[in-house]
Amino acid sequence: MSERIAVRTCPLCEAGCGLEITLTSNDDGTERVKRIRGDRDDVFSGGYICPKGSTLGHLHDDPDRLRRPVAKRDGEFVEVSWDEAFATIEAGLLPILEEHGRDACAIYLGNPGAHSLGPMLYNRTLISALGSRNRFSASTVDQRPKELSAGLMFGSVAVPVPDLDRTDFLLMLGANPHASNGSLCTAPDFPGRLDRLQERGGTLVVVDPRRSETAERADQHLAIRPGGDAHLLAAIANVLVADGLADVGRLAEHTNGLDDVTEALASYTPERVERATGLDADAIRTLAHDLAAAPAAAVYGRIGTCTQEFGTLTSWLVDIVNLLSGNLDRIGGAMFAKGAVGQPSTKGAPGTGRGLRIGRVTSRAGGRPESLGEFPVTALPEEIETPGDGQVRALITVAGNPVSSNPNSERLDAALASLEFMVAIDPYVNETTRHADVILPPPSALEKSHYDIALLNFAVRNVANYSPAVLDTPDDQPEEWEILVRLAGLLGGAGANADVDAIDDQVAAAILGSAVRDEHSSVHGRDLTELQEQLDGRRGPERLLDIMLRTGPYGDGFGTDPEGLSLAVLEANPHGVDLGALEPERIPGVLRTPSGKIEAFPEPMRVDLARLEASLDREVDGLVLVGRRHVRSNNSWMHNVRVLTKGRNRCTLQVHPDDADRLGLVEGSPATVRSRVGEVSIDVEITDAIRPGVVSIPHGFGQNLPGVRLRVAQEYRGVNTNVLTDEHFVDEVSGNIALNGVPVSVSPS
Ligand code: SF4
Repeated sequence: MSERIAVRTCPLCEAGCGLEITLTSNDDGTERVKRIRGDRDDVFSGGYICPKGSTLGHLHDDPDRLRRPVAKRDGEFVEVSWDEAFATIEAGLLPILEEHGRDACAIYLGNPGAHSLGPMLYNRTLISALGSRNRFSASTVDQRPKELSAGLMFGSVAVPVPDLDRTDFLLMLGANPHASNGSLCTAPDFPGRLDRLQERGGTLVVVDPRRSETAERADQHLAIRPGGDAHLLAAIANVLVADGLADVGRLAEHTNGLDDVTEALASYTPERVERATGLDADAIRTLAHDLAAAPAAAVYGRIGTCTQEFGTLTSWLVDIVNLLSGNLDRIGGAMFAKGAVGQPSTKGAPGTGRGLRIGRVTSRAGGRPESLGEFPVTALPEEIETPGDGQVRALITVAGNPVSSNPNSERLDAALASLEFMVAIDPYVNETTRHADVILPPPSALEKSHYDIALLNFAVRNVANYSPAVLDTPDDQPEEWEILVRLAGLLGGAGANADVDAIDDQVAAAILGSAVRDEHSSVHGRDLTELQEQLDGRRGPERLLDIMLRTGPYGDGFGTDPEGLSLAVLEANPHGVDLGALEPERIPGVLRTPSGKIEAFPEPMRVDLARLEASLDREVDGLVLVGRRHVRSNNSWMHNVRVLTKGRNRCTLQVHPDDADRLGLVEGSPATVRSRVGEVSIDVEITDAIRPGVVSIPHGFGQNLPGVRLRVAQEYRGVNTNVLTDEHFVDEVSGNIALNGVPVSVSPS
């Protein structure tokens, strides 16, 4: 038996920690993971790892993970060959498309695909080949408001991130990085970075209805009423202006509409938002003054600010406060990362962008607005249920478990059961994929190469890091991108045995050709064939990644800058390449609005302020539900890993002692929680860490439905909180589901 060590980036969450993986090799050459720990030489994470990162070997070895395709035969899944799986899809799906048109098949892209190179680079090929308007993704579950607010203000999804390592004051809303390690803010060891902020004399203020693990360690915790973040931020903006603390500085000449914003917020005094926020007016006023007095400060709002009824307004106001306080685009403030693969804000030039338009079309059955080429996930069940032209009769899911993650999950579950055909690209038979006719399993995470195409664009430091696959795939296992491309070929009319390499060649030529035509690109006007010859015979994601790196902001420009980045450079630097701290004064360079300026008061925000205004007078009695997360959990992905799920039950209903007394709830005893759409029975956990009037259930549990093959997860006493969330309770601008602030009643079971 021999050992070797491999390093790679953890693909499980946005932090992207470097891992050091010790593998043992048996006499027959098969390798197993012996140990995983943090890679101390990783240029970004420096050895940090959370409990989930050490379990990639468990995920790889999980006996419930599918190794071969399965297809339904007489209602039961049976293993089939890859050829038989694709032939089954051809026979089952194509006749539906031919008879009812392309819109008859929807596609749903799940969150794990955002952490996987194949889907990040080839989902677009699949979507294009399908040609359906019914496109959905997990982004309208948890982040679409932030994407839209950034797009409306800056012209592309360039989300400013807090300069964690240099700020003096961090105001954090709706985020608990001690459990999640951050989101839309890539920062390995986020908790350690917060510790260092406090060690250097900085201040951390956490706004959350729960005294979360992060709030516990903060200098100040404000237990806000769920849904009150927009009101709070509007009042902070109001104080900054009214008390003469606003100072936009050099950005004034690059901003449109700021006077209109301050005028619109003129009535949002701290006193006026006391009821909506549940916070004392003096505390709000002091917070605004503390923020303004800090040498450098940043406001960071994350999942709790997106998954609520004023998600886009809240996300917009985060950056309005950053702008008004003079902290946008400066060291220690809210800054723009510069990803090495290029992003819309690093292509083209200011004033050349089209900006972001939303609601160009609406969904057929529910009239829900499109954004970024998708309808909100709340539209999916009604599109399946509602008869007529364009009814969704078939579904393709890629790395998604919407029955677990989408609102009113029992309705969606029933809708999926009514489909005429469903294909899932997924490693498990879970709550969603049990409805599939065919499941195509990708390789395990350790069998895939990795580069975080999307999330390094939201990092607190500019970094590039590529990892080759750690383990070989079995001989007959296609790579994930090959599965996607073969399915795209089938949908595009090339049959069940489409030529994957020919399609891949077309994809690569299109990306390279686009760079050649872009007058702002480093390869503008170059000969396409000459560039293709420099790609070292690569194929698949590695070829696309090489093109993107070489034409990106640090790239070698295919020889123009010999010191620049290419995939070969990253392969020679397995611990990553550090590209430096975030750069200040990237505005106006990053702006892609048609005006070339920050649009401080986009029309959708102007309109939606009326909804916020109306909410000020609402009654606020009654219980509301919020979510939560634990460091050993990651949505629904990790609950089949025993080392992560063992120990006391974490899927509990957190209730404040005053509410427990009033309702007759007993610690450890079951309670029934009811909402407009459903009810669950769940064990009670009484804690003063939650605000009175608020109860909390974590998400991603309740995996014990018939037909699910997740034996460890099914032993767990969890419930699916999305049985309670309501597809009609949404952020109206983005259509994003409001998972927090759901009205509920609670009684002893
Ligand atoms: S925080 Fe944990 S799950 Fe996330 S990348 Fe790091 S090790 Fe992986």
